[in-house]
Amino acid sequence: MRIFDPHIHMTSRTTDDYEAMYAAGVRALVEPAFWLGQPRTTVGSFVDYFDALIGWERFRASQFGIRHHCTIGLNPKEANDPRCREVLDVLPGYLAKDGVVAIGETGYDSMTKEEDEVFNAQLALAVEFDLPIMVHTPHRDKLAGTRRTLEVVAASGIRPEMVVVDHLNETTIEAVAESGCWMGFSIYPDTKMDEARMTVLLQKYGTDRVLVNSAADWGRSDPLKTRKTGEHMLAAGFTDADVDRVLWQNPVDFYGQSGRLNLDPVPGFTEFEPAAAGNFEGNSVLRGAPKS
Ligand SMILES: [Zn+2]
Repeated sequence: MRIFDPHIHMTSRTTDDYEAMYAAGVRALVEPAFWLGQPRTTVGSFVDYFDALIGWERFRASQFGIRHHCTIGLNPKEANDPRCREVLDVLPGYLAKDGVVAIGETGYDSMTKEEDEVFNAQLALAVEFDLPIMVHTPHRDKLAGTRRTLEVVAASGIRPEMVVVDHLNETTIEAVAESGCWMGFSIYPDTKMDEARMTVLLQKYGTDRVLVNSAADWGRSDPLKTRKTGEHMLAAGFTDADVDRVLWQNPVDFYGQSGRLNLDPVPGFTEFEPAAAGNFEGNSVLRGAPKS
């Protein structure tokens, strides 16, 4: 089973996770820029974070045989903080870079006026840079938030096939399916979707325009939920080709619209081999010399 996780926050995960993901079939991923769990106080904190997404984390993934891409954006939660608003000014510089395959995460958290402004500004950037955009839907009042999201997306003039609306469930899938946007589902251990519910939605709505992700981050989450969903699909009677469509081809088709995916195997990689580890600006993932 080859897997492309279209939404996972590897900065928050361990090398054990990378090794387990590779063993499970993960060969590529997208790490969206997001909220770190506590407020950032200056634009410089974002700049360093964005630089790590396109630098150190991409290198770290490559050491475990996985191709790392990212999305860059100002998340909805911090859109409300005036100290972070100038992040919008630094985005264009990142949107031109290799491996940046979309804008995001953007969208609504509490549906404030500030979130409106920042979401619209980033939709305009997506049109200007001809990049896909990842839109997060609010955790509270999800259906109203999703409807509002789709109205704003439609009014922006962006083509719906350039948009993924993420964190969907049974109540929000219909509206997004009708909009022509891509449908994202985050499979979590105890909240949002699980593998069984996801499989039922795939039986009902089909596999087109569906992205399944683990959205693993610093919270309770599981970077192998993509694989577990694939196994659930097979047990429910889906074919290997169906699973490949959902877990590999769909993310490739969606993020491939950026023209910036690199899906080549990492040169020389077979399985994690400490003695062969490379380095990034003089630093490696090793802690001291390998044992002989
Ligand atoms: Zn996320």
